[in-house]
Formats: sequence, C-alpha cells, structure tokens
Amino acid sequence: MSDPARKAVIIGAGPVGCLSAIALSNMGWEVEIYEARPDMRLPSSKGAAQQRSINLAISPRGILALHAIQPDAADRCLRAAVPMRGRMIHDTTGKLSSQSYDRSGQSIKSIDRAVLNEDLLDVASKTSNVKLFFRHKVIAIDFDGRTMQLEDMESKSNLSVPFHFCVGADGSYSIVRRQLMRVTRMDYEQAYIPHEYLELKMPAGPPQAPGGEPTFLLDPNHLHIWPRHSFMLIALPNQDKTFTCTLFAPTAEFDKLTSSDGIIEWFKTHFPDALTLIGQDALLHDFKNNPRSSLISIKAKPYHYKDRVVILGDAAHSMVPFYGQGLNCGLEDVRVLYCLLQSNNVDPLFTPVEGAVDESLAKALDEYTETRHEDLITISDLAMDNYTEMRHSVTTPAYLFRKNLDNL
Ligand code: FAD
Repeated sequence: MSDPARKAVIIGAGPVGCLSAIALSNMGWEVEIYEARPDMRLPSSKGAAQQRSINLAISPRGILALHAIQPDAADRCLRAAVPMRGRMIHDTTGKLSSQSYDRSGQSIKSIDRAVLNEDLLDVASKTSNVKLFFRHKVIAIDFDGRTMQLEDMESKSNLSVPFHFCVGADGSYSIVRRQLMRVTRMDYEQAYIPHEYLELKMPAGPPQAPGGEPTFLLDPNHLHIWPRHSFMLIALPNQDKTFTCTLFAPTAEFDKLTSSDGIIEWFKTHFPDALTLIGQDALLHDFKNNPRSSLISIKAKPYHYKDRVVILGDAAHSMVPFYGQGLNCGLEDVRVLYCLLQSNNVDPLFTPVEGAVDESLAKALDEYTETRHEDLITISDLAMDNYTEMRHSVTTPAYLFRKNLDNL
C-alpha cells in the first residue's frame, strides 16, 4: 500500500485560496480549505457578498495562471468577461476621449468577482481530495508543531487541526502572516492611503426595440474614468449591461458629503454625465447603503517559513487597486509556486520523520520568496504611481501629447 498523501491546509476560500487548493490537489496533496465566512454560493450569503467590490479587471497575468492550473476555469472566466480595450476619459463637460491600451487591440477583461470565486469554489468542492470548511476561523498556528487552532463559528467551539503544509490566502488582515511574523525576521510595511472608495451601480439602459435586450448606457469595451485630480470615478462593465462605478476620494472629501442635496450638487459639479446615467435616487441609495472602505498597501518578506507555510495573494502583498493587478498577482503567485513545487520534485507522498524538514519543499519555498519578492514590490509601486496617473496625469496636455505619439 502506498503512503497516504500529506495534508495541506489552505486558509481562506477567496480566489487565491481556491486556486491554491486546486493546484495542490492536482499534485496529489490531501487538501482542506478553512474559510471564516459562510459559503458564498448559498443564497443567504449573496446580500453580504454584494457589499464588496463586485467586478474587477483580469489581465493575461491572471488568465495565464488560471490556464496553467485549471484550463476550463480560464475558458469559463473569459466567456463570462467583458473585454475593455482602452480607457474612456470623461471631462466635466461630458466630452469623451478614448485611449487604447494596446496598438494591436489586446484587452483587459471585466469580470464579476463572485462568478470567478464561485467557479473556483465549485471546482475545488468537486475535487475528491479537497474538503471545504466554512465558518471556520483560524485563530492561531504553531508551525513547528504543525497544528492550528480554529473557531467553529457554528458550534462556537474551538478545535485543533494538524497539517503538513499551510497556505495563507486569508487576505489583507491575514492571521497566517501575523503568525509567520512570530517565527521569521519578517520585514513588514503597511500604509493606508488618504483615500477611500465607495461603489455605485449604473443601471442597464432600455432595450432598443420593445421586448429586446437591455443595453449598455456607456461604451462597454472601455474602462471609464472621470479624473478630477484629487479624486476620480471609474466604471467597469458587467455582462448584465450594468456598470459598477467606484468613487475614490480623500476621506476629507467624503466627509463633506453628508446631505442628499450636498451629494447631488457635488455630482452635478464634478460628474454631471454620470449622475444622469446613474440616476439621483440610485446614487443616494448607494451612498447611504454601501460601505466606504479604506485602501491599504502591504509589503512583506519572507513569504514562507521552512517547509511549513507560505502566504499568497493579499495576505502577502495587498496593493492599491489602481493598476488592476492585485488579484492577477495573487493568481500568478499560485502559478509560480506550482511551478517551483514541480521543478523541486516536491512529493506529497513523502513524509519526513517527525520534526525533520522536507528539504525539497523548503527549497521550493525559499526560491519562491527569493524570486517573487522583487516582482511583487515593483507591481505594488506601479499600482501606487498609477493612482496619480488615473485621477490626474491622464488629463494633462503632456500626457495626451505622449499618448497621441504612442498611438501613431
Ligand atoms: P480575499 O479575496 O480577501 O480572500 C481572503 C479570504 O480569507 C476571505 O474569504 C476571508 O473571509 C478569509 N479569511 C480571512 N481571515 C480568515 C481566518 N482567520 N480564518 C479563515 N478564513 C479567513 N485586483 C485585480 O487583479 N484587478 C482589479 O481590477 C482589482 N480591482 C480592485 C478594486 C478594489 C476597489 C479593491 C479593493 C481591490 C481590487 N483588486 C483588483 C484586488 C483584489 O480584489 C484582491 O487582490 C483579491 O481579492 C485578493 O484575493 P485573495 O484570495 O488573496 O484574498
């Protein structure tokens, strides 16, 4: 009889956690995913999920990662996405100018975050060597003892779970990262930017003919930007012909918008065309009901400890969203790790004697930190720089002149 496979525990069932689970199960690991929230696929979870950013831009970086691990999921993701071939800049008079992303017409894609996450959850839950535990919150981890403590939020009891390898995909406020800090000399940097964001929904337009399909109120193949120097509004298309708009503004600016009249007047001054399309009632509804959220940037190194744990996705590198690469990088983390586990011949059936280190796994994780860090820091810095570009530079004469040369 062959040795039983070793157990990998994945903390977090976001897109990065699910893709990690699928990657490790492809290699033959026994995988358990622990997620603090309820299963997002349940109808009772949908309301809460809608409070979060509902669409995002996925680029070749993310698609390639999906493809390397679950080609069918990559194909489904592409079918569920709306291509955006450039930016559409809206000035205060309502004048539009299109700036293509690529001379040969390549695009980034707007996808519903829940569709992508649910698809990966479905794949993971149909895989025989993956088990999912929802409403299980990790509260502490002993990496040397290879056990973690969890709270079962249904029964309100605590339990202890043994593991061989732990993947922290538990987002920006990661408990795995905090536990990792206790056993490594982690360099760590965290910064909140002075801006917050709020999501607003732009409805679909009426059908062109009676009984026909709804229509998009704006060109669907662009990422729309209303740059206003110290703040901006953006809109990404959804397949149901709506747009998800996100208002990014300094906290002090948001704090001024307290009354309904004040909000409407502010939109009339800065985003008159968007106000007409969103509608005053819908705007006020979203302003009052949707959360205002902060934006954090996190840098850390190392991402691993011995052969015990690695942190991926936002847990390792939360970045501001202005380059549209946070999740794309998180999915790429999984692809890079997957390649390194394979090139180091990490064997899920090999169990080192108690207390010993699996040298091939430790080497793969070491290479992961060493090869990944510089790329992640670079992209995180680019994301920060792109905020100034999106809300300000795209409107300046020097930028427009350069862009025209690029498009020649
Ligand atoms: P998450 O999606 O945060 O998942 C972490 C999971 O871990 C959660 O389900 C959480 O409940 C669970 N968890 C946390 N703690 C515990 C615990 N103790 N025990 C058990 N479970 C736990 N990225 C792009 O690539 N393109 C974009 O266009 C884009 N747009 C964005 C727009 C905005 C406004 C924002 C804020 C972000 C955007 N991003 C974008 C970034 C992207 O949303 C994140 O990078 C991505 O969601 C991170 O995925 P993740 O799986 O690492 O973490």
